[in-house]
Order: sequence, then structure tokens, then C-alpha cells
Amino acid sequence: MIIDCHAHFEPRMLTADRILAKMDAVGVDRIVFIPAMQDPLPHTPELLLTAVRGLLSVGAAPIVEAIHRHTIREPGKLKLSGETFEIYARPDNSAVASLVAQHPDRFSAWIFLNPAADPNVVETLERWRHEPGMIGVKLHPHWHDYPTAQAEPLLARCEELGLPVLIHFGFGVRGDFVGLCSRFPKLRIISAHAGFPFFRKLWDHAETCPNLYVDLSSPYLSERLVRAAVKRMGADRCLYGTDAPYGFHEEDGSYDYREILGWVERLPVSSTERERILGQTFERITSR
Ligand SMILES: [Zn+2]
Repeated sequence: MIIDCHAHFEPRMLTADRILAKMDAVGVDRIVFIPAMQDPLPHTPELLLTAVRGLLSVGAAPIVEAIHRHTIREPGKLKLSGETFEIYARPDNSAVASLVAQHPDRFSAWIFLNPAADPNVVETLERWRHEPGMIGVKLHPHWHDYPTAQAEPLLARCEELGLPVLIHFGFGVRGDFVGLCSRFPKLRIISAHAGFPFFRKLWDHAETCPNLYVDLSSPYLSERLVRAAVKRMGADRCLYGTDAPYGFHEEDGSYDYREILGWVERLPVSSTERERILGQTFERITSR
């Protein structure tokens, strides 16, 4: 069973039919979608990605934070390659909910919430969690730009309900993963993109934060970084994900599902561990 636990539903880049065809071509059984939080983005230049990976690997997070601040100079506006993209303060969960309802055997979804823009965020959770196939909550304190402490009432409810959260952490107070893991010890927290922007600093908390997981998605990562994450966190704390349709592309410009799958297939782990990374651990932590 192969489950991609981190993909974005962006039909302006990849329609549901094409996604299903790509899944069948490479053997991905299920995708867990995140509702769109912005208009389609241009390809991030490979040079920038390499620079960010390199800087974060050597602990130069302040430089990467400065680059990030440069891309978000006004709230809700992302500047990339000379263009401005609106970040949706309240991502629309209905498109993924209806997609999941149409293909319950292939798709599930994260409920995308933003405590900084939604004064009734816990009620919003209550509304969406009853929709079939909505398996947990996605938060993005990095681009939605809020301290993770602001999400605590919501996280308390997720913990109570046994719903996992997928969080794209930001810098500083926007990424207090140690605080969250200790205040909500029963909450399963998946740090997107192998612990971006902390990487090793987050992996070093594998033992002190037993409820912390990482997904292996995104072009922020490389095969080398993924190997280091699995080695340090342990295979049981790492989940296969892609960040599709962003990142790796086939010749026609559409998402290439083979790249990250190849990284996982080549990992120096046992076949049991590989199966856990590819889907079993995700199934376990999302079954209530
Ligand atoms: Zn993503």
C-alpha cells in the first residue's frame, strides 16, 4: 500500500483524471490532498532550492529566514520571480471534500485551517471533520505567518479527537515544535518536508518528542537529506509524501511521481521499514 500523505489539489496544474493516471502508472494507491492555499506558482529555480538546502544543512537558518521575509513583504502576498501571488487566508476545503467524495477509494484530505484568520477555527474544524475522508488538519504557520501557540486551542481539540496534524513549520515562534509536542503528547504531529526549516535540529528531538513525525515531501529536500532524516528519526517516524504538483517535473512539465518514490525505494532500510514509510505508518496514525 503506497500512500502519498502530502500533495496539493491544484486542478489548474493537474486534473483529477491525470492524477489518477499517474498514480496507476507508478503504483500509488492513495493520495491525501491539501486544499490550495495560493494561485499556481512558477517552478522554483533549482539554484535557489540548492542554496536553501545547503544553508539549512549548515545551520544558517537566519539567512534562509531573511530570504523568506523577502518573499513575504506584505501579509498574504508572496513575491516570487518578480510576480505577486495571493496567499489565501482561508483555504477552501470544499473542492477537496467533493473530490474525495467522488473517489473515496483513492483520495483522502487534510482540513486546511488558519487560526490567525478564523476566530471560530475550532467550529470550522467541527464542520469539516464529519465529511468523509477528511483525516486530519493541515496548518501552515510559515506562510500564514502566525506563532504556533495561536493554534493551541485547535490542537487541543485535535488531540482529543485523535486527529493528526500536518504542519509546515516556520522560523522561531512560528515553529515551536518542541513546545507543541510536549503540551500535546497524544497528538500526532507530522512536520512537513522532513522538518523544514529545522531539519537536523528537529531530527535531534526524535527521542524527546515521541509524537513527532516527518514527511519526506518536496523539492526543498534531496535524496541525501531524506536518507539523513530517515537515519536520524528512524524509519517508523518518516512518511512518504510528494508535495505534488510542486517540485519534480516530467518533460511535459507535469508532476513526476517517480522522483521521490525512487528516493524511498533506494533507502538502505529493510523491506518492512520501507513498507511502513510508504503507507503503513500513515494508516496506523490516522486510524482512530
Ligand atoms: Zn506542501
